[in-house]
Amino acid sequence: MKFIRKLILYLLFVFFSNEIFSADLADLRFGSNGINKRIVLDFSQDVKFKTSISEKKINIKFNNDIKKKTILKDNPFVKKLQFSEKNEISIYFKRQFFNPNIYLLKKRDNKFSRIVIDFQLKKIKKKIIVIDPGHGGKDSGAIGLNKILEKDITLQVAVLLKKKFEKYQDFKVILTRDRDIYLKLRTRTKIAKKNNADIFISLHADYHKNKRTRGISLYTLSERASDKEAEALARRENKSDFIDSVQLYEDNHEVTNILIDLTKRETLNQSSFLANFLIKEFENDLNLLQRTHRFAGFAVLKSLDIPSILVEMGYLSNKFDSKLLTQKEYQNKLVDKIFKAINAYFNWKEKK
Ligand code: ZN
Repeated sequence: MKFIRKLILYLLFVFFSNEIFSADLADLRFGSNGINKRIVLDFSQDVKFKTSISEKKINIKFNNDIKKKTILKDNPFVKKLQFSEKNEISIYFKRQFFNPNIYLLKKRDNKFSRIVIDFQLKKIKKKIIVIDPGHGGKDSGAIGLNKILEKDITLQVAVLLKKKFEKYQDFKVILTRDRDIYLKLRTRTKIAKKNNADIFISLHADYHKNKRTRGISLYTLSERASDKEAEALARRENKSDFIDSVQLYEDNHEVTNILIDLTKRETLNQSSFLANFLIKEFENDLNLLQRTHRFAGFAVLKSLDIPSILVEMGYLSNKFDSKLLTQKEYQNKLVDKIFKAINAYFNWKEKK
């Protein structure tokens, strides 16, 4: 008896909930919050439906009978609503939309049951990050304790960084090299330019005749070096191209051009902001060189309009730094912090 009663109740439920009860479309509303847009369809009853999506159209096919009890008022996103005999509603958009997410909010205690369509009107532009593992090939960079080569450490960290960033849709990462090859500094900046990079990060690891010197330091471009050490470092790093002095912006003969000047200044500012975000992320947890942010004429940082930064991840001449930099665990820690800092930089930039 109990079973039969349950069965009858179940059949009644299926029967009424899906087929007999028709739902009225009572209203079609819209909302907007920045890049995120929303359309809401209010129904008198809970509905069951399937959707199909094309470029400018969403088709909703219902199990219920659908009656239209509303007309399309001024809607900034929807051009036309079309009802078909087969309990289908077609929503024609005025423009192409992206990342649609369609779901039902059940009626429960509310007046209406709602189909919510979240979407964006613009494709989100991926942030393009060019990561430059310093040195490579015949240029090994610094040779550290136990013959650790700078070019190997920089490549290992760069590959980890790329993997980290590419877990997220918002980023596209390009490595200037993904294996042990020699690249001119100029080729590295050209790769950034060609790919329209939003930022450029050159990875390095230094050495020092004082074996006790250790810690991370960050460098941005300046025609005048912040100190003798930064100047000497820039000279060493620039040597990769076998040039002694680098004339900044040598390609621009119109250096007097105000626009170029402004662009340069803005790029340098952005590079400094980026350095600050990195320091903030590093400072409590990692060893930093004193006066962490320094300036000098690094050839690889001289892109006119791409914020660029050079990260010296530590000293291969120091036993602690060189040990850490060869450990996957420490490399991953460094990568996590660089990732967080870059994210924070882009978030800050977007809010401005
Ligand atoms: Zn280097």
